[in-house]
Order: sequence, then C-alpha cells, then structure tokens
Amino acid sequence: MGGTVASADRDGDPSESGFSTPSFAKSLFLGELHQDLVTPYPKLDRAERQQVSHLVGELRRITDELYDPAKVEEQRWVGDEVLTALGDAGLMGLYVDPAYGGQGLSQTGYCRVSEEFGRIDATLAVVMGVHQSIGFKGIHLFGSDEQKDRFLPDLAAGRKLAGFALTEPTTGSDAYDLQTRAERESDGSWRLNGEKRWIGNGNRDVVVCFARSEEHGHVALILTPDMEGFDSPFRYDSMGLRGNDLRHLTFRDVKVPEENVLGEPGDGFTIAMNILNNGRMSLGTGAVGAVKKLLDLAIGHVREREQFGQPLGEFELVQEKISWMTSYLYGLEAMSYLTTGMMDRGVEDVSLESAMVKVVGTEFLWYAANRAFQLAGGEAYMNDQPYAKILRDIRIFPIFEGANDVLRAFIALSGLKVLGDEVEGMGDLDLLGAPVRSGGLVLDYVLARVKRRVDPPRLTHVHPELRSLAEPLSDQVSRLRHESEALLRRHGREVRTKQLQQKRLSHVAMDITAQAATLSRVTALMNAEGVEGTATERFIAETFCGRAAGRVDQQLDRLERNDDDAMLQIARVAYRRGGSGFELYDT
Ligand SMILES: Cc1cc2nc3c(=O)[nH]c(=O)nc-3n(C[C@H](O)[C@H](O)[C@H](O)COP(=O)(O)OP(=O)(O)OC[C@H]3O[C@@H](n4cnc5c(N)ncnc54)[C@H](O)[C@@H]3O)c2cc1C
Repeated sequence: MGGTVASADRDGDPSESGFSTPSFAKSLFLGELHQDLVTPYPKLDRAERQQVSHLVGELRRITDELYDPAKVEEQRWVGDEVLTALGDAGLMGLYVDPAYGGQGLSQTGYCRVSEEFGRIDATLAVVMGVHQSIGFKGIHLFGSDEQKDRFLPDLAAGRKLAGFALTEPTTGSDAYDLQTRAERESDGSWRLNGEKRWIGNGNRDVVVCFARSEEHGHVALILTPDMEGFDSPFRYDSMGLRGNDLRHLTFRDVKVPEENVLGEPGDGFTIAMNILNNGRMSLGTGAVGAVKKLLDLAIGHVREREQFGQPLGEFELVQEKISWMTSYLYGLEAMSYLTTGMMDRGVEDVSLESAMVKVVGTEFLWYAANRAFQLAGGEAYMNDQPYAKILRDIRIFPIFEGANDVLRAFIALSGLKVLGDEVEGMGDLDLLGAPVRSGGLVLDYVLARVKRRVDPPRLTHVHPELRSLAEPLSDQVSRLRHESEALLRRHGREVRTKQLQQKRLSHVAMDITAQAATLSRVTALMNAEGVEGTATERFIAETFCGRAAGRVDQQLDRLERNDDDAMLQIARVAYRRGGSGFELYDT
C-alpha cells in the first residue's frame, strides 16, 4: 500500500540525499537556484493516486451522509459516529505504516486527502489535523517499535484520538520556554507537573506532551488521561472551530513510565519542531481545499445574482477578485505540493518551505474568504450561509502552529544564517536564538553543503515556452543575496531585531519559491499534454508569476527606501501615550 513519488531527475554532484543542496529555500539567500530540487515537478505514482482517489471518494461519501457542520457547531463535537466511519474507511491513519493498520501514504498523498478535509469543513480538518498532523505524528516519527505497537493501531483505526500539548498559559510562540516540569525518578519514571492550555483532543486518549527537565532539557512524554494527577478541569469556549474539543490540562505529580518517553530525554524540543514542520504542510494544502470551496461559492453567486441589469460577474471589480483567487490558488497549490514532494523525494531540509506554505496558505485563505464574503453581499452576513462560520473558523490559522510573523522572521533569519556562515567574518552571529528559536527546525546546512555544487542561478529545466518567465528569477535570486549580504554587513548580529527587513526578505524568498514551483508545475503539464492543450493553465500561471515577480521587485526596493524608522517611532509614541490616537474633538 502507499506509494512512492516519481524519482527525481537528479543532477549536480550529489549531497548525501543525491541532491545538489540540502535546502532549496535557504540556498536562495546564497544567490543560488538549485533546480534539481524543484524540477521535475513531483507527482504521485499511479498506485498511490488511485488509493488517494478512493480515500477522497470515501471521505466525500461519509461526510455527505453523516456530517452536518451546523449540527457540529450546536453539539460542539464532530460526532463519534463520523469518527467511527472515518476510522473504518482508513481516513484516520493516512500515513501510518500498513503494518499498524494505516494507509501508508506519502506526505503528498496525506496532504492531498487533508486538502479534501479543508474543502469540506475547517472544523473537521482541524480535528483530523490535531489527531494526525500533530497528535500522533511524534509516535510515527520518533516512537520505538514497542510504542508504535502499543499506540498506532488504535490511533490509525480511529478507535482512539490523539492530542499535542505544547502551549501553556505563559508559553505561546516561544515554546522553548516551557514551564511544565518533568523530573526523572530513581525508578526511571518521570514526575510531571504543570499545565497546558488550548489543547485539542486534550482529554481524549493519547496526548503527546512537552516538558522541561532541569537535568535533561526538553522531554516529550506520551500521556494517557487515566494517569493519576492528569486532569482536564475545563473546556474552552472558542469563537470558531466549535466542534474542536479544546482543553485546559493540569498535571500534578503525574507518574509517567519510562517507556512513555518519546525519543531520548533532551530531544523534546527538536521533536516538537519536527512535528510542527510536518503539520504546517497540511495547513497549506488544507487552505488549498478551503479556497477551492470559496471559489465554487463565489463563482456560483456572481453568475446568478444580477444587479444594475446584469450578473455581478460582469463587473470588472468582481472579475478582478475571482481572477486573483484563481491565479493565487494556482501558485499556492504548486508551492504546497512541491514542498510535500520534496519531503517525499528525500530532500533533507524543507523547514523553510514548510513554514512558507503555512504563512502563504493561511493568509491567502483569510483574504480569499473576505473577498468571497464581499461578493456575496449582505447575504453572507446571514447565519444560514456558510461565510460567517468560515471566517470564524479560519481566523486562528495564521496564529497557531507558529504565528505567521514568527515564521517570517524564522524564514529570513534561517536564510541569513546560512549566508552569514559563508560571508567572511559573519560566521558567528547566533541568529537563530530568541525571538525565533521556536519558529521551526534548525538544521545544520553547512555540514551538508561541503558537497554542494554551485551553478549559475538559472532555471533552465523549464519548458522553452516559459523561458521568459524563468529568466527574471536569476536576477531576483542574485538581488536577494546581494541585499541580504548588505543587511548583514550593515547590522551584524543586530539584524535579529530588524523584523521589518526580515519580513521583506521572507516575502522575496516566498515569491521566488512560488514562481519556481509554478513554472515547474506547468512544465510538467506541458511535457505531458503538449503546448496547445495547456494554454489556459499556462496563462493563469504566467499571470501568477508576473505578479509574484513584481512583488519581489517591490520588496527588494523597499529594503533601501522605506519609512521603517518613522513607523517604529510612532509605535513608541503610542506606547508612551498608553492608548489610542489623538482626539480631533475634545468632548
Ligand atoms: C483554536 C486553537 C487551537 C489550538 N490548538 C493547540 C493544540 O492542539 N496544541 C497546542 O499546543 N497549542 C494549541 N493552540 C495554541 C497555539 O498554538 C498558540 O495560540 C500559538 O502558538 C501562539 O501562542 P499565543 O496565542 O500565546 O500567542 P503569543 O505568543 O502571545 O503571540 C501573540 C502575537 O504576538 C506576535 N508575536 C509573538 N512573538 C513574536 C515575535 N517573535 N516577533 C513578532 N511578533 C511576535 C504575533 O503576532 C502573535 O500572533 C491552539 C490555539 C487555539 C486558539
């Protein structure tokens, strides 16, 4: 069962994985464009495509029959009957090895099914994501054989539900700074004390919990709610995702047996970051699914509804919204599945791409939902329509699994670190401590880079018809390196505090990656189906790439010419005044 992604057409001197660099996105900051990581566009093999198609069909059938989003809101739970049906159909252990009763899907296959969950309902997607993307992912990735035997069969079958407990009342984005304590006892067990908040499935069957030990550093522990001293005193009342069971958890001298430690003591933080790194990809593809649904709704509405004697869809400002959603979706989808494909093909480090997909996907979804809402007019405001629930549900996406601004800083500083290691005199800047130490995985790029082959930054593998779109990428990548180096030289270690500049660099890297992904996607299509039959997709892709290239230029220009100082000063004034702005009329 399961499958492999079609093997890469690898060129260049191989690094350990056979690719010319361990990370496509980090290399951009070096002014390099490693096309063997992005071309050919990855695809699922035939067997896995069929398997995914069957699973998606089952998901649609089950949700058509059993899933009612309004009822879920009312009951504040997705329903045990639904979960049983999903579990029976294999939808709750999608990437789990068939030896444990799972479907054995690749990351791409898993994310494609997650896309469908996102299309159906955000609440269902989140409950499934909490269970599979983060809940038991740690057991799948880091569990011992015994732990996998003990937990995975029930979790994969949906007989049990998993949660992921990282966040605490005083520890949010800076997850490194956990206050929950786990200390090793003389018999090898661990004594756990502390509390967690906002934990999905927190009072269910299996919770992977992160804590800190004075002696060993961070530890990851597998908890079951029957453990003495483990309590879930209350459930949170949230504005959206109301069917997601969000819990407060307390631990008072909970005795956790030695065999429930995940990985090695001290590995807990790396394990948490690895899990989130994985989970972020399905948030990206979940956004793809949700935007597809929004587009269906919006197009249906503007074609039907008439005002001023014509369908709304005839107005240019309406068309502009639909076309923005369509073309941006094309780019997001290309980027999301390029990232999952990279992981499946064994690219060593996709931490930046994974963060990018999360940032781009969750924010695009938010703006797309607002535009679809706008087009539906006053009707969208009525609770018998789906829009209000969609907005309530998705508003948390840019915040959880790594707040987007933290991820932006993480993307830029990870790239700058790699560049700093290469630029003379800049090698020891310690850029990845606070405030981005909890942004994501910190992988050692330098070691693997020894074998890296550096080509001129050109995307030559794209279809000849697309060359004019590929050429600007060379200049964009060279400028990214040049401007990044200038920033490093100007600010040295202080670049850590320059978040407005980091944001620009991260957007440049995201838009370059999105263009490369899109060009690779269309090239694969043109190679398979010829130039003639693919004109429409090519046109959409061209428009997306043209706009992305424009954004890159704008961001790079703003690195030099901006009003950052003024903006930061206004914030300081506002803090000093301690409140709102200036009264125009005294009353
Ligand atoms: C519905 C829901 C479900 C959740 N599910 C889970 C779960 O299952 N398991 C779990 O462990 N947690 C869960 N969480 C918690 C979630 O992961 C956190 O909310 C998230 O990590 C952010 O932490 P915080 O809310 O404390 O925000 P804070 O860390 O206080 O940050 C607030 C804001 O400050 C800004 N900010 C923070 N740091 C920086 C920085 N370095 N630079 C610039 N800006 C910054 C950002 O704009 C950020 O959005 C859930 C939360 C919600 C609301």
